[in-house]
Amino acid sequence: MLGRELENIRAALNSGHLSGNGLFMQKVHTFFEAEFGIGKALMTHSGTGALEMAALLLNIQPGDEVIMPAYTFVSTANAFALRGAVIRFVDSCTDHPVMDAAKVEALITGKTKAIVAMHYGGVAPDMTLLLDLCIRYSIFLVEDAAHAIGAKYNGLYLGSIGHLSAFSFHETKNIQCGEGGLLAINDERFMQRAEVIWEKGTNRAAFARGETDGYSWIDLGSSFLASEISAAWLSAQLEHFDEVRLHRKRLWEAYERALSPVAESRFLTLPERPRCEYNHHIYAIVSANEQERTALIRYLSNHGFMAVSHYRCLHRSPYYQAFYEGKSLPNAERFEAGLVRLPLFHGLQVEVVEAISRTVKSFYGC
Ligand SMILES: *Cc1c(COP(=O)(O)O)cnc(C)c1O
Repeated sequence: MLGRELENIRAALNSGHLSGNGLFMQKVHTFFEAEFGIGKALMTHSGTGALEMAALLLNIQPGDEVIMPAYTFVSTANAFALRGAVIRFVDSCTDHPVMDAAKVEALITGKTKAIVAMHYGGVAPDMTLLLDLCIRYSIFLVEDAAHAIGAKYNGLYLGSIGHLSAFSFHETKNIQCGEGGLLAINDERFMQRAEVIWEKGTNRAAFARGETDGYSWIDLGSSFLASEISAAWLSAQLEHFDEVRLHRKRLWEAYERALSPVAESRFLTLPERPRCEYNHHIYAIVSANEQERTALIRYLSNHGFMAVSHYRCLHRSPYYQAFYEGKSLPNAERFEAGLVRLPLFHGLQVEVVEAISRTVKSFYGC
């Protein structure tokens, strides 16, 4: 808890409006639109829900193709697979888990409808190149900005660049409300329909504004809204956005100071990527292989620190491997085997980060 979360929830209770699209949710929408240069914001029950709305808005049909990184969370792919899309997975960069944008063009066919950029740890892939491809081939750019609140590319906030973008406020993200998400709609053509899809395929949002005298089923949709309780909690968190950002930066820089000078051959730290301004969502190092990673995580755990591995590549997942011609994506597979996320959360102290860093160094004998 960062501040007024409980007071806000009490105020929501007193207002007598606990379902979606209440005053706190409208505050969340305004915050995202004003602070992050987003066209229109709609808060959802999850980041997953926001991605599913994007797939519906883009009218993804069975057999359409969608290009995205293999090294991502399952929801990035699931949202489009649910509409029958064929997923074309792209490898990571050699030195960073983000998608290697240079490998995307070779995958574009007449059936490609969208490219999904996932900003790993708030770090964008080469958006200049992806945008250029989307313009040249008339396809849509979706951002999975689940990690990316407040991070930038070329001076623009992530989530404001793609036609549609999904944020997440899951408990594990920088700003959270337990479960929650938000769809950013940056292309005007989608704004009206987004509100309909959000409200179960009805024009209920327009009705709530007094624009119609009833509401009916006018399109596909589902119940994508979050509850006003979640919005009340989130709204309080957003008041502390700068404080969270600055503290995470201090923690991240303490890791970087301690670990990057010794990294080189024994383990890798992730390099700064050009044109990216970080939000310090994840601090990760990459060990040589899975065996070493397991030993490092155990060593840290024996010293009282909890580090974790991250994504299993989706092209090798039990669900998708059969649909996917088993081509190897070596960089993504290396991050799957070796990547370790070190603890990074708002309640953590710089001194603890220094102790964790010393423990990592002692594991590697440096
Ligand atoms: C967390 C996350 C999501 C979805 O988030 P939920 O809010 O948990 O549904 C989607 N994509 C990525 C990359 C994530 O990390």
